[in-house]
Amino acid sequence: TPTIGVLALQGDVREHLAALTECGVRAVGVRRPSELADVDGLVLPGGESTTMSKLLAVFDLLDPLRERISGGLPVFGSCAGMILLASGILDTRPDAVHLDALDITVRRNAFGRQVDSFETDLDVTGVAGGPVRAVFIRAPWVERTGPDVEVLGAVKGGPADGRIVAVRQGPALATSFHPEVTGDLRIHRLFAEIVREHA
Ligand code: GLN
Repeated sequence: TPTIGVLALQGDVREHLAALTECGVRAVGVRRPSELADVDGLVLPGGESTTMSKLLAVFDLLDPLRERISGGLPVFGSCAGMILLASGILDTRPDAVHLDALDITVRRNAFGRQVDSFETDLDVTGVAGGPVRAVFIRAPWVERTGPDVEVLGAVKGGPADGRIVAVRQGPALATSFHPEVTGDLRIHRLFAEIVREHA
């Protein structure tokens, strides 16, 4: 059974731990370098990316996390987690951390005031059984994808039509939305599969 960590500095840690546990993996919060060393995969939850940036440094996790990511650690970032995993971030603070796990540029709070938070049905490549209910909360979207990035999902219809909101590059997965709040485990199962493949 793989052990999947959830970065537990800030954000919706509990929801991810619960979803992962339901998927049948061992789920643990990660706050220390020693805890990071023990996981087979890591979830970076939603929350506030600039706050998490600062806390990564405060908790001495930044360098160990960069090392594990360049060593091929499977990672899944949702919302703020996607922002942290990107290689470029638009509309953020100049000192915001980007972990470069995905060759993407994201725009923070991209959907704008009128659609600050919204839900929609989304087809996600690699997720069978019909569309996923996608919950967006002050979410980023992906504005640039590098050649090795696979687009797994984009918004259909409305003012954000065509915007990319789910991507994968090798063992790195990211969604603009929050699969941990819907009770639909399919995205977490997909990540658990990626972790098993890379174990
Ligand atoms: N707007 C937040 C940020 O920029 C992300 C929101 C979320 O994770 N729900 O970090």
